[in-house]
Amino acid sequence: MARLVVKLGSSIVADDEGAPRMDVLSGVCEEVVARRAAGDEIVLVTSGAIALGMRVMGLAVRPTAIEDLQAASAVGQGKLYRTYDELLRDRGATSAQLLLTFFDMSARTHYLNARQTLSRLLAWRVVPVINENDTTTTDEISFGDNDFLAAQVAVLVGADRLVLLTSVDGLLTADPRRDPGATLVDEVTDFEALSALEIGHTTSPLGSGGMRSKVVAAEMATAAGIEAIVCNGLDPQARATALDGGRAGTYFPPQQVRYSSFKLWLKYAKPSHGTVVVDAGAARALRDAGTSLLPVGVVDVLGGFDAGDAVHVREGHRVIGKGISNYSAEELRKVKGLKSGEVRAILPRATDEAVHRDYFVLA
Ligand code: GLU
Repeated sequence: MARLVVKLGSSIVADDEGAPRMDVLSGVCEEVVARRAAGDEIVLVTSGAIALGMRVMGLAVRPTAIEDLQAASAVGQGKLYRTYDELLRDRGATSAQLLLTFFDMSARTHYLNARQTLSRLLAWRVVPVINENDTTTTDEISFGDNDFLAAQVAVLVGADRLVLLTSVDGLLTADPRRDPGATLVDEVTDFEALSALEIGHTTSPLGSGGMRSKVVAAEMATAAGIEAIVCNGLDPQARATALDGGRAGTYFPPQQVRYSSFKLWLKYAKPSHGTVVVDAGAARALRDAGTSLLPVGVVDVLGGFDAGDAVHVREGHRVIGKGISNYSAEELRKVKGLKSGEVRAILPRATDEAVHRDYFVLA
């Protein structure tokens, strides 16, 4: 028995006109039902709400304003879920709609509730169909097309395999539109080595993903011990092989080093809103002793951010990690270099740590 998270990108859920690709969706639902019958558990993560909503609202090109994208998603989501629900119901399977956000995943009680709900649904043999709750968040709209969400869900449910279905064959050595000699990368074990490749940011005019966010999602899943596959969801053979536990497209084996899901999210998915430059002593303590960052170690604050935002932590020009700041940029500028007692005299309600060790991850 295997537990699989299967993510469908916008470009395979909808065609260029924004109409649902019924052949792909029914093919996937057919395979989901077959895998379930064989004893596997499947969670679907699907994009396509914006693409379907755009069509309903008569928008020919993907809007850029975030409120237009959020509203288009709200229009399309019902139609998107209804399509899956009907296809699965026709094949004898019950489905459930879940709309999640990264915030849900990072707030501990929300995370536990989401995990509890998902595990109960799987115990009931219901197929969860998940999308991001675009109304309240924009992380996946602005970057990712649900790739991170799928990786996060894979971590949440303790999946064995993450399958990212897209409209290209997998990770290529170059952009095929510019280099006809581009070939498929069969397997990725070294994510550092990938920086030499020119990995595209976008795959289609409908979605917001691209190969880069898939690679990052694969890195995130494999760092949690989950194997990942990126393959062509428009190719029925590749799709069936990937869902069946075989090798199709690009394969990412599980990594040896493991991180908690929160730290994975922080490291890979949470956008940074500024930079905190620290002195050598603080840098050493963060790096070698795993301590928290106190205002006394801060020498400079760059950008504007609120308490709760992620920031890069730098020593000079070198990024040493990323963390959630307990202070806004404005507050931190007032108290940088000060000891805790002095900080409290200026900001009586402030916490001792500018970035707590539990909310910090090394680069
Ligand atoms: N949640 C979005 C959707 O369903 C993600 C895709 C995108 O960024 O276009 O459409």
